[in-house]
Amino acid sequence: MREVDLFVIGGGSGGVRAARVAAQHGARVALAEEYRLGGTCVIRGCVPKKLMVMASRFAQGFREAGGFGWALPAAPVFDWAALKRQVDAEVLRLEGVYRTTLERAGVQVHDERAVLDDAHTVRLLRSGERLRARHVLVATGATPEAGPDFPGAGLASTSNDLFRWPAQPRRVVVQGAGYIALEFACLLNLLGSQVMVVLRRDRILRGFDDDVRAHLQSQLTAQGIGFETQASISAIDRHGTGLAATLGGGTLIETDAVLRALGRRPNTQGLGLEAAGVALDDRGAVKVTIDGRTSVEHIHAVGDVTNRVQLTPAAIREGQVYADRVFGGIDAVPLSHLGEHGLVPSAVFTTPEVGCAGLTEAEALTRHADIDIYIATFRPMKATLAGGDERTLMKLVVRRSTDRVLGCHIVGADAAEMIQLLGVALTLGARKADLDATLAVHPTAAEELVTMRVPARRHGI
Ligand code: NDP
Repeated sequence: MREVDLFVIGGGSGGVRAARVAAQHGARVALAEEYRLGGTCVIRGCVPKKLMVMASRFAQGFREAGGFGWALPAAPVFDWAALKRQVDAEVLRLEGVYRTTLERAGVQVHDERAVLDDAHTVRLLRSGERLRARHVLVATGATPEAGPDFPGAGLASTSNDLFRWPAQPRRVVVQGAGYIALEFACLLNLLGSQVMVVLRRDRILRGFDDDVRAHLQSQLTAQGIGFETQASISAIDRHGTGLAATLGGGTLIETDAVLRALGRRPNTQGLGLEAAGVALDDRGAVKVTIDGRTSVEHIHAVGDVTNRVQLTPAAIREGQVYADRVFGGIDAVPLSHLGEHGLVPSAVFTTPEVGCAGLTEAEALTRHADIDIYIATFRPMKATLAGGDERTLMKLVVRRSTDRVLGCHIVGADAAEMIQLLGVALTLGARKADLDATLAVHPTAAEELVTMRVPARRHGI
């Protein structure tokens, strides 16, 4: 039986990083991926999604151009198939880059499913080969949650299916109101589909700051996205050439596609984890300690399969730290950082974008009484000539006694880019006085972050 120092199951962001770095530290590494190298982020997530978001924003640009003196010779026409070809080609290129990177580092790549026969034995399902692994890393990611079953549920699509849609649906019902649901709702709406979001609560984006949730929902409504709140789908039927979604209360929505985006479930089934003695939690995620150890000493897990922070950069960091620690003898990143994931800046690529870092107002108030809230809402400069109702929101959550900025929340153009840098400031422990001392860059939207002087609300006074 061939022996390796590390066998990585899953070729997504976390697994590929760990495999490459471990091999560069001198370990003999093999990796198995049953679908395509790159995982969710590259193949059917962040990358193709962001390219589609970019495509959708041209629609805004074309609409606004007139205000800046441009006359378009004819109404622009969007070709879904042409975009799909371009996006597919870029994804293929990146997949190739991942393969080359692994091979150059000396990782043996197996394009097939791998399962554990026992804690040290990996079996490749197609070739039947069995390998002995000193260490195993489970990096199998997650998959769209099927959600509650109902008649016709099989007619709905997930985000995985959307990337394969041959044509753009004229009308789309989106169920769910998290990251994925809203990103696709926005991009499809801008590309010209009529979009109805069906959510079980009153507000979108549970867990985000309440001002962000209200602001974004009103912005999306103003753009023509419909919201059926306190609602769920009870049936989907074929209806003419399209579909009809029936809501719990009996409302019928005619549509051409139903996209369900109800969260993601860790990929742990049928991997032999039970046989190997790896404990799972009640959601089926691999249970891990701060540094990714499972209940079996030489088996670790990183990324979405652990259901901690379901974000690519978190998986990459986990994979890097694992490989450095176990194969490089380096404690590069303090494990406390890894466990808490430090401060996690994140963005939702709706249009307008959402960028958040640190605590929401509600979270801050559960920890401290003395909280000041700074809020700026304004019409972005572009809208002065382009017209439109767009409003940008910026919000800072500050602890009065320490002056520390505990949270920053932005809804508006380029919020993702802004929050990446605010994330640096907050990680460094920025105080409100530091933002005040920073000279503004004018004219920008981001200058509002350093020019807010008067709290909109003061708690604990
Ligand atoms: P989210 O957890 O963000 O959202 C799930 C949505 O589905 C929520 O609105 C939730 O409602 C709703 N929901 C869940 N179960 C049901 C149900 N049984 N019936 C009706 N509604 C239901 O998951 P996503 O699938 O959107 O995304 C998964 C993760 O992927 C994200 O959490 C994020 O970590 C990551 N991601 C990150 C992106 C980024 O960084 N830009 C982009 C895309 C994904 P409720 O709030 O009521 O529970």
